[in-house]
Amino acid sequence: MAQGLLFIVSAPSGTGKTTLIKRLVQSVPDIVMSRSYTSRPARPGEVDGVDYTFVSDEQFTEMVEGDGFIEWAHIFGHRYGTSRTAINRHRSNGQDVVLVIDVQGAQQVRSRSDDAITIFVLPPSHQVLETRLRQRSGQDATEDELQTRLETAKQEVVQSDGYDYVVVNDDIDRCVEQLQSIVVAERSRAAVVNETVDEILSAFQITGD
Ligand code: 5GP
Repeated sequence: MAQGLLFIVSAPSGTGKTTLIKRLVQSVPDIVMSRSYTSRPARPGEVDGVDYTFVSDEQFTEMVEGDGFIEWAHIFGHRYGTSRTAINRHRSNGQDVVLVIDVQGAQQVRSRSDDAITIFVLPPSHQVLETRLRQRSGQDATEDELQTRLETAKQEVVQSDGYDYVVVNDDIDRCVEQLQSIVVAERSRAAVVNETVDEILSAFQITGD
């Protein structure tokens, strides 16, 4: 069975990427969103094993030392990482996997697996991002944290030009459609459908004799 594809999606905090990717994986067959590990505490409404696997600092360190992550990063004072085993299991079952990770993590994965397909989601404008972050900050962030997130966003958006695809989240339905098109196009690449093509071509030779 052909190995599943690996998609990486990065976007500044507040861009709506989680909503987008949840809708993508619900609407396209055979693609799953990876669930990250984090040492940050759960926010109200977040569920362990659904939004993240929430672990202690000690557990996170153990996983790092045991080479359990294909990438991990310090973000806003906490650590986040992607489990190696989970990704490999899905991909060897032929399922595509989407990692929703920051730019540092994306760089680490790209440097290790040259087959990763990278997508950057941009907010429609700086103003829209600030408004979204302020709306969300009612839940958990202080003004200082908000400014840090905006500053981080500034550093992240300039890195979007290193990604294979860039989509702008100005309209959620349109943006989900664009993501679906990217997945469908990547699945149709000649290198990816090689096995199927070989089978068809060899059948032609047999019947053509
Ligand atoms: P939040 O705390 O708002 O859920 O996430 C903060 C940032 O961490 C987001 O940019 C998100 O994409 C990123 N992130 C979530 N999981 C991972 C991960 O496993 N690895 C890396 N490098 N970044 C992650």
